[in-house]
Amino acid sequence: MASDGHTRPFDVRSIRADFPILRRTVKGKPLVYLDNAATTQKPQAVIDALTAYYTGCNANVHRGIHTLADEATAAFEATREAARRFIGAASTDEVVFTRGTTESINLVAASWGREHLRQGDEIILSTLEHHSNIVPWQMVAEERGARIRVVPVDENGTFLYDEFLKLLSGRTRIVSIVHVSNALGVVQPVEDIIRAAHAVGARVLVDGAQSSVHLDIDVQRLDCDFFACSAHKIYGPTGVGILYAKRSLLATMAPYQGGGEMIREVRFSGTTYNDPPYRFEAGTPNIADVVAFRAAIEYVEAIGKPTIRAHEDTLLAEVSERIRRIPGVRILGDIPGRIGVLSFTVEGVHPQDIGILLDNQGVAVRTGHHCTQPLMHRFGIAGTTRASLAMYNTPEDMDIFATSLEKVVRMLS
Ligand code: PLP
Repeated sequence: MASDGHTRPFDVRSIRADFPILRRTVKGKPLVYLDNAATTQKPQAVIDALTAYYTGCNANVHRGIHTLADEATAAFEATREAARRFIGAASTDEVVFTRGTTESINLVAASWGREHLRQGDEIILSTLEHHSNIVPWQMVAEERGARIRVVPVDENGTFLYDEFLKLLSGRTRIVSIVHVSNALGVVQPVEDIIRAAHAVGARVLVDGAQSSVHLDIDVQRLDCDFFACSAHKIYGPTGVGILYAKRSLLATMAPYQGGGEMIREVRFSGTTYNDPPYRFEAGTPNIADVVAFRAAIEYVEAIGKPTIRAHEDTLLAEVSERIRRIPGVRILGDIPGRIGVLSFTVEGVHPQDIGILLDNQGVAVRTGHHCTQPLMHRFGIAGTTRASLAMYNTPEDMDIFATSLEKVVRMLS
């Protein structure tokens, strides 16, 4: 439901009309955009919010006393409130603007990690993680002498919860886990993971880059310590994301970067820092994109994530049924509850060839390792072809995709 309580009935035709890019053609064919897990397209409301900001009230935030600065600051902070509501945080003080999920995780690893990790401490990740939830932890682990433990997955990409419990111990300081896998669409049991981690005194970061667009998020109910997501995967602009962290944690965390805005007082003899969240927002932020992010949040809220999810689930189930029947095709992570992603291999065919030939039909999919090389390694493959869905996809999109793929596989096999 939107902030004004209004719910928009779901009509995929009228939704598509809101996304101008969907009117274009690719190679003379209507665009079938199925690369939504990489980034979603933007509705006119988001594009208009960007233009309105630059044409109406562009100014630097927080520091000015003139009218434009006041208006820009109000618009900027209004997004913080919208983001708070979107993830169910208790206070806007717990919402830090970042460049995206990657920067949010780096912030936690560099600030909280450096402070709390000691020689012999353990960080638990899973085989499913995106590189941006692996590399920042490797960097801090190396610096602090901590050790990374990895929860394995089975041949379907299922997170092995019992193995996770075996890895958990008094040495575990943090569990950093992807909520919905970008490579497979499988969902991790984050509620159980968080409860078990807290029982041994460990903190939990949830990588919500994919879940934030498909699932209703309530960080208070989840009781996660950190939650990271990116606006561009939620129909918003690139270059903006949020880090949620519990107020008690942020209050004790050292700044991640130094500069303007994050200070209280600067002397050459020493500097005192601003309160969270501003302590973690050094320098002029990405104001225009933050402002436009609110339009994306309100757009999604007006339709409602359960409604969007139901639409995407129906399309995914139908198209999966058809793709499964293509000779030589293997869908990875093909288990119930998978969200928005169809990742597959075709025996004897390189994913890149499939991607290029699908593009010739106007169908945009992603091929490769999807920034999850350890997961690809687990499956003994270099990569997959991935189709990923959004609210504006239609049964016709699915039909064009499946028909094109059938043709491509016939040609290449
Ligand atoms: N984590 C997951 C699961 C992702 O899918 C992505 C992006 O694809 C990221 C992290 C990184 O997000 P960003 O590139 O927006 O920082």
